[in-house]
Amino acid sequence: MSNKKIAIMGAMPEEIAPILEKLGTYKTTQYANNKYYEASYKGVDLVIAYSKIGKVFSTLTATTMIEHFGAEILLFSGVAGAISSTLKVGDLIVATQLSQHDLDITAFGHPFGYVPEGAVFIEADKKMIELSKEVATSMGKSVKEGIIATGDQFVANEERKNWIGSTFDADALEMEGASVAVVCDALDVPFFILRAISDAADMDASFSFDEFLETSAIESAEFVMKMVDKIIE
Ligand code: SAH
Repeated sequence: MSNKKIAIMGAMPEEIAPILEKLGTYKTTQYANNKYYEASYKGVDLVIAYSKIGKVFSTLTATTMIEHFGAEILLFSGVAGAISSTLKVGDLIVATQLSQHDLDITAFGHPFGYVPEGAVFIEADKKMIELSKEVATSMGKSVKEGIIATGDQFVANEERKNWIGSTFDADALEMEGASVAVVCDALDVPFFILRAISDAADMDASFSFDEFLETSAIESAEFVMKMVDKIIE
């Protein structure tokens, strides 16, 4: 269907390791204090990287993958904290919309997550969300669709998590999705953001994260590679 160059990004090494392992051979390029891995997969060019944690690093990496490496589609694979009580560790969530929960100029009467000429929510590519439903069916998995809230903080606090949930109607939270969404939206690159739950963003979050990072990252990476297959198909 498509032979466009695909970027696959994560925030941490654990999030892209399963993908690099599957590819086996790739070319490594050092650029802007980061490593980018290029590979050919089923005749399609891929560029893979982990950005490091947070909105700034993920903005840099998403921009670099598009502007420097020529990616035309971007898929993000990683882990997140659950807000929705229906999401348990290991469950997958596909972002329909993303927002920055820590962007706050409310002192000027604006809503949380908004700055002039921006938008509170950025919408992910609808076609890829449709494709993800087919992938989920073929894998026999149920994947939740929902709003993901992003901010430069690891949320391990029920009160903060509930505030983010009610303010943005968000189902999950993490630290990179919305910044990647802003970049892709501005540069007109269709994007797909998938997360597997690693914790419940509550007082046990850091322990749960440490325990489940690796297995949840694999869940997400396997699904994203099936998305790549579907896009190429
Ligand atoms: N263990 C790391 C820090 C992880 S920060 C270290 O010590 O270096 C959490 C990462 O996982 C971020 O990339 C974020 O996107 C995601 N994440 C998972 N659970 C989260 C939560 N409860 N709050 C915020 N981000 C979370």
